[in-house]
Amino acid sequence: MISLVVHGGAWDIPDDLVDAHKAGVQAALKAGWAILSKGGTAVDAVERAIMVMEDDETFDAGTGSFINMAGEVELDASIMSGKKFQAGAVASVQHVKNPISLARKIMEGNEHILLVGMGATRFAKEHGIKTCSQDDLITNRELDRWREIQGRKNFITKDAFRRKKVPVDTVGAVAIDNHGNVASGASTGGTPNKYPGRVGDSPLIGCGTYADNEIGGVSTSGWGESLIKVVMAKTVIDLMDHNGGDPEQAAEDGLKILVRKTEGYGGIIAVNNKGRIGIAFNTPRMARAYVTSEMRAPFAAT
Ligand code: ASP
Repeated sequence: MISLVVHGGAWDIPDDLVDAHKAGVQAALKAGWAILSKGGTAVDAVERAIMVMEDDETFDAGTGSFINMAGEVELDASIMSGKKFQAGAVASVQHVKNPISLARKIMEGNEHILLVGMGATRFAKEHGIKTCSQDDLITNRELDRWREIQGRKNFITKDAFRRKKVPVDTVGAVAIDNHGNVASGASTGGTPNKYPGRVGDSPLIGCGTYADNEIGGVSTSGWGESLIKVVMAKTVIDLMDHNGGDPEQAAEDGLKILVRKTEGYGGIIAVNNKGRIGIAFNTPRMARAYVTSEMRAPFAAT
């Protein structure tokens, strides 16, 4: 069975944004599935699906990302291939339209795994990855949000997270192709008004992303500071390894660990090495969509 699952963030998506989120994950799924269903690779499908959401201003990834405390966009992304056990990631990178493609280039370079800041931008320029200006990534909606936050006294992301008041619009995808190869990826602008240089779970292999052909793949979303502490993606992979390969149970048990140990919250998408999909979230909503070669039609929900 070949499968693809994507997410567009786990949080309390307001009613007026629900349709855009659903349409966004559906479009990403369609683009990734067009590759996978024609015999394409899991890595290609994951990259493509994430690119679609990076280019969609609805999500906090690529264009439309949150703006940091310094008024800039800094992006994080990661991708992992469970076939050759390769990974690539970027953190706090600027001037890159599709950080997932940059993460992939780094993965394929096979020398480094994680590049940050100016080094990551330099790598992009040297390897033909499209660069852009800050203005190309900043939308009016995010500029308004940023201005509004500057006007508030003592905006502390941690407190806002505790009150579940932070939008969590990170995107991710996990796929298995017809050779049994698993890939997963994540891309984000992080959290609104984050401290410059702040890095969440998304670009950290094992926290936001993990893939192992022998077990499956995972991508996460949510409060990065809590997801990092429980090494969320790898924890779910290990749970799946020990529960007979049940991705739903593993995703749910992973969230229980997150809550018990950190009082955190978020969402998890997982695929096992047979193509079975598991999704769990402890937020009011999570934008998600999936399809397998055994389904008549794709599923999408928020
Ligand atoms: N996990 C991301 C971060 O903390 C946020 C998100 O999922 O939207 O950077």
